[in-house]
Amino acid sequence: MTNIFEQAQAQFDAAANLLHLSDEARNLLREPMDEHRVRIPVRMDDGSTQVFTGFRVQYNSARGPCKGGLRFHPEETIDTVRALAAWMSWKTAIVDIPLGGGKGGVICDPKKLSEGELERLSRGYMRKVAHLIGPDVDVPAPDVYTTPQVMAWMMDEYETIVGHKAPGVITGKPLEIGGSPGRDDATARGGMITLREAAKEVGLDLAGATVAIQGFGNAGMHAHRLLEELFGAKVVAVSDSRGGVYSEDGLPFEGLAEVKREHGTVSRYPGKLITNEELLELDVEVLVPSALENAITEANASDVKAKIIVELANGPTNLEADKILHNNGVFVIPDFLCNAGGVTVSYFEQVQNASLDRWKLAKVRQRLDEVMTSAFDAFLKAKKEHDVDSRLAAYAVAVERVAQASRARGWIRNVHASATAGAGSGIAAM
Ligand code: GLU
Repeated sequence: MTNIFEQAQAQFDAAANLLHLSDEARNLLREPMDEHRVRIPVRMDDGSTQVFTGFRVQYNSARGPCKGGLRFHPEETIDTVRALAAWMSWKTAIVDIPLGGGKGGVICDPKKLSEGELERLSRGYMRKVAHLIGPDVDVPAPDVYTTPQVMAWMMDEYETIVGHKAPGVITGKPLEIGGSPGRDDATARGGMITLREAAKEVGLDLAGATVAIQGFGNAGMHAHRLLEELFGAKVVAVSDSRGGVYSEDGLPFEGLAEVKREHGTVSRYPGKLITNEELLELDVEVLVPSALENAITEANASDVKAKIIVELANGPTNLEADKILHNNGVFVIPDFLCNAGGVTVSYFEQVQNASLDRWKLAKVRQRLDEVMTSAFDAFLKAKKEHDVDSRLAAYAVAVERVAQASRARGWIRNVHASATAGAGSGIAAM
């Protein structure tokens, strides 16, 4: 199965069966509520015009305004955006912040665009979606190949269109214009909190533990630093889209980051060259997929040797691989729980923007720890209660919450099928 939206739906269906969801709940929650496709003409530096295609999917807003990143990627499709928007809905639910789920994407290769072209594309996208989003409607954020600078251009364009300041229209902004302290490494830091909790459960001492990280973008890079800083773990392999490097003695973060800055790829760091595929099968204790979807599939899942998988990427493991990993006793920290630190601090950013406030970094970190720890606890409780694989357990918690919010609004009458839970089960759940 390669279509990732079909995969996301199959994951949802498994959760719906486990929870005995009613037909009306299934019908509501297995499709996006709204979706938009836009065409964006952009004046290129050579004077020509190129038309880019973009999407915004608003998957579910029962728990609050839609929330989720915007990706600039050459292989973006409406289905990748749908899947990612669904996962955002489960993500905001599992960390229990009052938001729904959405996602955007533009088909483009940002590595081939000049800064001017990137700015015009960012502003052009915002002109097309401005009437569809807003601080109380749908709030974009950074994701693959989009940056705080892109967020800044988009906020500026939005405010020009609506004629007033509206910093809460987008998160992940630079600090000078309403960004939150701690948003830059929030995804990785949140993931590290879940790793800390998972290691306790598995009985793994993280000090000196060996780690392989796939991807050296915002999530992977900060994860490398934090693994050293927080736990004294030993990162032995790192990769990016151009390849990877391995060293038994460990790869120090500072050195790697410098090589990445200088050469644009970590694979230039002295060590044994490895491929992205080889990295996943290394004999390490912790594996951190932090690149793109479908890294771990039925083709390589049985070769994974790690004890814990820290899914900082969205959708790195497919459905078949989940079953194999579960049978092999690998503890997977599922993506929409593991990488929810980013959207959690985005939410803190929204709170600060709405109240014209600024929080100290220490407060952001403390609140993030509380949110992630209690989300992990809810997940672990469900995993033990239902005795299912990690992803299904996380789904069970999240889907139940979104379904209950939908029932409270009157979008559906019953969360559960009446034969199993009885009419009014939603009320009993209160
Ligand atoms: N793009 C990030 C994610 O996939 C963050 C989303 C946000 O901050 O809204 O969770």
